[in-house]
Amino acid sequence: MGLLTEGSPLSWKDTKSHADHVRKHGIIQFINEFKRLRNRTKDVLYWGDEVEYMLVKLDHENKTAKLSLKAESVLQTLQQVEKDHPDDHPTTWRPEYASYMVEGTPGKPYGGLMAHFNLVEANMRRRRMEIKECLGKDEIPLSLTAFPRLGSGDFTKPQTTPTPDAGASRSLFFSDEVIFQGHPRFRTLTRNIRERRGEKVAINVPIFKDTNTPSPFLEDLTQYGDKGESQKGAKPDHIYMDCMGFGMGCSCLQVTFQACNIEEARTLYDQLTPLCPILLALTAASPIYRGFVSDLDTRWTVISQSVDDRTEEERGLKPLEKEKFVINKSRYDSIDSYLSCDIYSDIDLVYDRDIYQQLIDAGIDDLVSRHVAHLFIRDPISLFSEKIHQNDEEDTDHFENIQSTNWQTMRFKPPPPKSNIGWRVEFRPMEVQLTDFENAAYTTFLVLMTRVILTFGLKFIIPLTKVDENLQRAFKRDAVLEQKFYFRKDILTDCSPPEAEECIIQCCDGRQCRLQDQYTEMTINDIIHGKDDFPGLIPLIEHYLEMEEIDIDTSCTLKQYLNFISARASGKLKTTARWMRDFVTSHPDYKQDSVVTETINYDLLMKCAKISEEQFTNEHFQADTDKLLPPVVETKTSDEIPQAVLKQQELINKKVARNGTLMNGN
Ligand code: ADP
Ligand code: MG
Ligand code: MG
Repeated sequence: MGLLTEGSPLSWKDTKSHADHVRKHGIIQFINEFKRLRNRTKDVLYWGDEVEYMLVKLDHENKTAKLSLKAESVLQTLQQVEKDHPDDHPTTWRPEYASYMVEGTPGKPYGGLMAHFNLVEANMRRRRMEIKECLGKDEIPLSLTAFPRLGSGDFTKPQTTPTPDAGASRSLFFSDEVIFQGHPRFRTLTRNIRERRGEKVAINVPIFKDTNTPSPFLEDLTQYGDKGESQKGAKPDHIYMDCMGFGMGCSCLQVTFQACNIEEARTLYDQLTPLCPILLALTAASPIYRGFVSDLDTRWTVISQSVDDRTEEERGLKPLEKEKFVINKSRYDSIDSYLSCDIYSDIDLVYDRDIYQQLIDAGIDDLVSRHVAHLFIRDPISLFSEKIHQNDEEDTDHFENIQSTNWQTMRFKPPPPKSNIGWRVEFRPMEVQLTDFENAAYTTFLVLMTRVILTFGLKFIIPLTKVDENLQRAFKRDAVLEQKFYFRKDILTDCSPPEAEECIIQCCDGRQCRLQDQYTEMTINDIIHGKDDFPGLIPLIEHYLEMEEIDIDTSCTLKQYLNFISARASGKLKTTARWMRDFVTSHPDYKQDSVVTETINYDLLMKCAKISEEQFTNEHFQADTDKLLPPVVETKTSDEIPQAVLKQQELINKKVARNGTLMNGN
């Protein structure tokens, strides 16, 4: 999770007093780096996934499942291989927000070979095994997006007690001890977000109204020690949560791609943006919060609300006096501007004009300048005393400070200083799935989309207000089947032919057309499989794969991934969220009151554990998953790439060196 600087964190007051300093030097650092690296080219397409795991302790006697607060010691063991062999380790481990979480990535990024797709699942399996080896009896790693009873009663092992009147979060439900203790960043962010906002964050998620759910549903929060602040923030008919941990304590699946140069990175950033809501709906896996069934299927708005550090002035609740801007979104939210094409950026962008001018004066183009000046409307929310004074010629920590606490759907990552890493783009919305098979399938699907986009020059870009509307739809219960999403009709050309006189726009290539003729509302099934003139994402990938040479094992694996995603899109298979809802509502203890009891939680997590542990060993396992997974899961995933295939890599590298790009270099 972002920049981990060692040292002593400043108080919020001191951090705030250095905010302009951090911004000023952050921008200088960005300008220096940008100038140095903007012409960097011929990088190869590298990519890698990030999976976040929760450590869960099962108690079979008492039928409870709790979060095990062991991440610090588990990480020490997990990271040993990397420490001993910094250049050669199969997996990489990092801390995450909570002391029950760890984040695992492949030891090194994957490359441009088709055979690399066949490594992903095996590496994810290895990661799961590595964690398991560090755990004790009845402890398991689960790649679970949201722990159903997080913040409900006694949900941790060892037991923890919230401190509503003291500490970083002041939560009624979530003790500071649940925040990762091995690094001060996480606690500091929690405290500073609350102090900056001037009150605790208030997270409200609509409750799923079942036949016996009280109406209106409104909890008496004095029972948890509330003295009024929480009750004021809690909305009727919503599940109320009150700290960063409820959001940042969720797990996700992210994928990062390296482009061959900055232009390609900007293209990917833009063209992948409209896919964010689609992939969020397709991966929906988090219907339960604080022990209640909610009416949403995904975590996104929960995290967004959980780190919303805007003051009342910034939220537009009071006239601007102390603050500079009214800000339309939390710092964890969807992107507000594109990087390669201006006309679709129809959100009224809030950005710092002085910083923008400084960037323009330094010769940086309008779109990148706007993007960065937008990120820099935020304050740094953690600062370490050792890091205040930096060498702007060499360091980029001040830039990274602001960049890494703008948690948006997409992230544009400049190359780190003094490294051989190129321009990268991170795709951040996906929910993590229970099995390695599913996580590998979504990761692979997305990487294949990047290749399809670049190879065929596809245009998915639509106005950002429509992408935002889609995101709101993607949160909803069963969005994958019930909602329609704005999607571009003609993805092969820059714009559609003009059909009416009003709202004529100039497209990137100079032609003119009507903006609203470019997109229409489609179901996810149509988007994935195609309809009428729209080819569909899977047929496009299949077309691309036909053009590539693929070894038999990889081909078999890819086929299973695509079939699986196809089945999720059509509703033949359930999303994890739907599967969990069905499990809870058909549980004998469930009282149609939206409550997920300890026993239901235990049984649900036992089922999750069984699915994620036995996915490849139990031949009868499928019969039991109730349409979560395909009838047979048997990919040919492997730990290594065959020698013959490796030779191909050399040829690809040579091609890139010659042409400067992998995709358009023929
Ligand atoms: P974050 O910014 O989210 O902390 P990291 O930089 O730690 O992310 O890495 C995210 C992913 O990027 C990992 O899967 C890693 O394997 C992958 N990765 C590392 N180097 C590169 C690279 N040069 N190009 C693309 N992906 C990379
Ligand atoms: Mg992470
Ligand atoms: Mg990440």
